Amino acid sequence: MFTAFLIKYAEIGIKGRNRYLFEDALIHQIKHALKKCDGRFMISKTQGRIYVDAQTEFDFDEVVEHLKRVFGISGICPVVYVEDEGFEKLCDTVVDYIADVYPDRNKTFKVNARRARKNYPKDSMTINMDMGEMILKTYPEMKVDVHNPDILLNIEVREKIYIYSEIIPGPGGMPVGTGGKAMLLLSGGIDSPVAGYMIAKRGVKIDAVYFHAPPYTSDRAKQKVVDLARIVSRYTGPIYLHVVNFTDIQLYIHEKCPHEELTIIMRRYMMRIAEHIAKENDCLGLITGESIGQVASQTMSSLIATNEVCELPVYRPLIGFDKQEIVEVAEKIDTFETSILPYEDCCTIFVAKHPVTKPNVNIIRRHEQNLEEKIQELVKTALETAELIIAE
Ligand code: ATP
Ligand code: MG
Repeated sequence: MFTAFLIKYAEIGIKGRNRYLFEDALIHQIKHALKKCDGRFMISKTQGRIYVDAQTEFDFDEVVEHLKRVFGISGICPVVYVEDEGFEKLCDTVVDYIADVYPDRNKTFKVNARRARKNYPKDSMTINMDMGEMILKTYPEMKVDVHNPDILLNIEVREKIYIYSEIIPGPGGMPVGTGGKAMLLLSGGIDSPVAGYMIAKRGVKIDAVYFHAPPYTSDRAKQKVVDLARIVSRYTGPIYLHVVNFTDIQLYIHEKCPHEELTIIMRRYMMRIAEHIAKENDCLGLITGESIGQVASQTMSSLIATNEVCELPVYRPLIGFDKQEIVEVAEKIDTFETSILPYEDCCTIFVAKHPVTKPNVNIIRRHEQNLEEKIQELVKTALETAELIIAE
């Protein structure tokens, strides 16, 4: 029955003179999302509205599912449109529409007509009244409520006439690409994919970096990260995932530094390397899945130690989340099942029994000096041998 969708957007409506940039980015993201659906679609922008018109047969549920992942969309209205063949014919269509969409008609309604094409013989008020009357005649169980109707029946008169009344909620947020780009430190865990999702939701394009340590971490652990990047890319568009071999760096830190400080020092190197790749790729920030107190390396003292090696801002959208709250988002965005697959993300030899929970930055810095020039070489090699995988 439906052949088009009216796309409603919230926040981008308030961007003043830059509004068209946001609308164009939204259209771009919608096009990208619909590429994966069967059928051909035309996306158009008229008078502050975005329409998706199906030009072929399509699967309604599939299209809605994909549109629900496009940040910037606040609502998706399935539209029936008809040629203008006179008011009576239009009323017949509306009656059929109500029968199809509302099997239970014990509802209140209001007709909300908009005459965008001014040569239509009835003005908006007259359409509202005449159509309301006709609906009441056909369905006596329905009632008019102009203030708070159950069904707001929109009739838009353009070249064709558009009928819609249902709003399927979209994900909200801002279209990806309107907020610059940031580098996500993506591990195989539950948290970092959620962190990437949350920053992307604010319109930020995402690149990612994964540190792996073969043979201590397996190919399957790496594949899991690629799979996670792919799931997140359903919302963000393609993710450029840099896979950095971290083994020699970890072994060298293990050899030279106190074991209870291993995690912190390793994390400082991860941040440095991630920042290097971020800057090379025009990223304006780093993103991690850290939340205060979750593990020893995420106490506020530990965060001081990992933070101080970066110049770029580090975005930690989960900082105040409990694990359960993170899990809820992971389930919603479909990363949870993949995240909990058992493949190790770090070998036990690299995890101290009693890691420091209140590292002193000065002491950490001093111990890092145990690492001689060789660490620079190892970092250089890790950067040079990084593998790029496009997850989409
Ligand atoms: P996650 O569930 O995201 O793995 P976590 O609770 O296991 O997080 P940590 O292992 O302390 O926490 O990691 C904190 C953050 O550091 C992660 O959220 C992620 O952003 C980053 N990180 C950790 N390990 C890696 C890795 N191997 N590659 C890339 N980033 C990593
Ligand atoms: Mg982890």
